[in-house]
Amino acid sequence: MRVTLFHREFGQKLFNALHAMSFDGLGMTRPSFSEKENEAHEMLCTIAREHGLEIRRDWAYNLYLTLPGRDRSKPAVMTGSHMDTVASGGNYDGAAGVVAGLSVLCRWVKAGFVPERDTTVMATRAEESVWFPVSYIGSRTAFDLLTEEDLQAKRSDTGRTLADHMEACGGKPQWPHTDILQPENIDCFLELHIEQGPVLPSNNAVIGVVSGICGSMRYRHGTILGQYAHSGATPRQFRADTVVAMADLVTTLQAYWEQQENSGKAMTLTFGVCYTDAQQANFSAVAGKVSFSLDVRSQDAALLEEVDSHIQQVVQDVAKRHNVTIDLGERTGSAPARMDAELQSMAFDVSRALRIPAITMASGAGHDAATFANRNIPTEMLFVRNENGSHNPYEHLEMADFGAATAVLDGVLKLRAERI
Ligand SMILES: [Zn+2]
Repeated sequence: MRVTLFHREFGQKLFNALHAMSFDGLGMTRPSFSEKENEAHEMLCTIAREHGLEIRRDWAYNLYLTLPGRDRSKPAVMTGSHMDTVASGGNYDGAAGVVAGLSVLCRWVKAGFVPERDTTVMATRAEESVWFPVSYIGSRTAFDLLTEEDLQAKRSDTGRTLADHMEACGGKPQWPHTDILQPENIDCFLELHIEQGPVLPSNNAVIGVVSGICGSMRYRHGTILGQYAHSGATPRQFRADTVVAMADLVTTLQAYWEQQENSGKAMTLTFGVCYTDAQQANFSAVAGKVSFSLDVRSQDAALLEEVDSHIQQVVQDVAKRHNVTIDLGERTGSAPARMDAELQSMAFDVSRALRIPAITMASGAGHDAATFANRNIPTEMLFVRNENGSHNPYEHLEMADFGAATAVLDGVLKLRAERI
């Protein structure tokens, strides 16, 4: 059977099964460390068992499915993604990468192919940070990078701690751990993922070979404080209008972003939250308080710092112009991650050979792959075309595209797994 057809049929079967077990009437809901997530992991184990793959779980109950290589002492080739979803998400974010990896191993088993190196599919836990306010929980626990404080984070729907949920699923959230991933034992990590924006469809490309994963710099809880005042009785020069200050802040930084873009500096800048105080604000008063969030992303760590110092300056200027105080609150964020140049050129070579249209692109969203890249493991991501964005029930993945992208993953993994 042709490689793409094998993966297409394998994918269709598993995506149907995942849909059946996770559909909530609107979309897929598989919360991090939930029964639903366990059920999805169990399904993967059943298939792995049928194909004679080794099954292992670590202390955080991440799942590893391995096809043993001829020389087990060599660093392993790894692939994978996460199995949890946001509430009422789609059927492909995360799952596509795990299903693709498993499809590759099952095809190799069926073809009687034994690689030189161990080849492992990892299904990480808890990648979607909507459930616990901690990033990349599964992949970071695998490298023992979480703190005791992280383990006390509470899940947004149940209010129970991460440690508690982990334990209930069969994990062991107590130190010390012996089953930690060691970078020197990993040859490379590849993650296939649906694209979460419109770049691939608008370029008529099936695959995006990712050049880097953007880091972020966030102010989640910014506030502007001014003065509540009667809308009819307060002349303009006596106002400390926080809505006007907010508008100035948004337009000034929007213009700055446009300038940056024109000078070739790739970044995004988003005010995702912006509201007046629901208790006090009303139509006949100047608003005395606005709350907002600011999220900046770029592949370039130095650029994030440059943007931050510009933001500090703009905040001071805007506050002065409008007679208000602006407090950005605590800064949080994540480091950008570089993808491996050799793996990128391998992905292009395989795509070309299979006549699958591929382009290079950055990942604006964070992924488990960033954890591997930041441990200095050669890492690469492959995006697959998806028309409708992600984190919504309308994610759409053509099985022909899934088959094509998985064939590319298959080819690259094989090149690496066969290296002597
Ligand atoms: Zn994802």
